[in-house]
Amino acid sequence: MTSIPQHGPLDECGRLVHAEDPAAQLALTVSRLEATLAADGLGLADVATLHLSSPDLDAIDGVLDVLTERLDATGARPELLLTRAASLGVPGMLVALDATVAERSTGTLLVVVAHPDDEAFGCGSVLAHAAAHGLRSVVVCATRGELGEPAPGSGLTRADLPTVRERELREACRLLGAERVEVLGYVDSGVDGEPAPDALAAAPAAEVRDRVAALIDDVRPDVVVTLDASDGHRDHAVVRDATLAALEQVAHRPRRTYLFCLARSLMREFTGVATLGTPDEDLTTLVDVADLLDLRWRAIRTHASQVPPFDAMGPELQHGFLAVDRLRRVDPPWAGGPPETTWLPAHLAGRPTTTLTKEPLP
Ligand SMILES: [Zn+2]
Repeated sequence: MTSIPQHGPLDECGRLVHAEDPAAQLALTVSRLEATLAADGLGLADVATLHLSSPDLDAIDGVLDVLTERLDATGARPELLLTRAASLGVPGMLVALDATVAERSTGTLLVVVAHPDDEAFGCGSVLAHAAAHGLRSVVVCATRGELGEPAPGSGLTRADLPTVRERELREACRLLGAERVEVLGYVDSGVDGEPAPDALAAAPAAEVRDRVAALIDDVRPDVVVTLDASDGHRDHAVVRDATLAALEQVAHRPRRTYLFCLARSLMREFTGVATLGTPDEDLTTLVDVADLLDLRWRAIRTHASQVPPFDAMGPELQHGFLAVDRLRRVDPPWAGGPPETTWLPAHLAGRPTTTLTKEPLP
């Protein structure tokens, strides 16, 4: 953490401006802080914690929207701490702000999935993309995939699957650069039928939500990615709903939250069913991950107990699914416009070496 010490509504000579006007003092203090950040190439979006002190918290509370509107406008999600100060050293001064900025070299991705292989068949290149950009990543998997189909010729039975699939999950995550894997230990619900009593689909929704929320507050991710559940598997829907509900109650609010999506156009081509997949027009984020295909395939093949759906596709459709990651940004809400080309927040996106493309001179 880098500390950006006290800012207040003072001019260059240290004289108070806007005496006794809390809204004007707060607005000036925020713009002073932004100017200091800008000098370091930073913005409010880089601020991790914002500490507001005031001798008159009631007056500041009444005008706090001056600050929150600015934070919303810049996509900033700092932890905001308000404390009452006996005095700020200057008579009539109503507000001071201290900020800390997270180290720019770190960022964390949290991927929440339902079964071993969701992290590789689904989010494999999201994890690989994170590792390539120096982010640490953590994978939460709700079950051990007990109801998967053992791959023909694997010699495995259903009874072998929990142990084998957890091992495959951990190995795939290691390949994809995830540094921590948390298995919640629910039982795979399967696609349909009455779920077992200890199955994920039978668990109280609030319990799953609270367990995911506790992990979000522990991991403190910059970005959360979970499944869009558009393939109709009920466990995927439970994980998606629990993650989105958890984000409503966490103390640590990630900068960005995404659903990892199966595109409707590709799902229609693959299955012939018109209603599976997320409608293509709802995709907000298209990331070219063709350069990560080799690693993605190694992670997919690590799940040797399972037959990946890609094996049933022609090369073109397979490439369509695997060479581009498609996501839908849930938070901050998508305002429309052309899709993003990365899910990395701005303060992390600039980290890899930038390739400059120079147009040839006419
Ligand atoms: Zn799954």
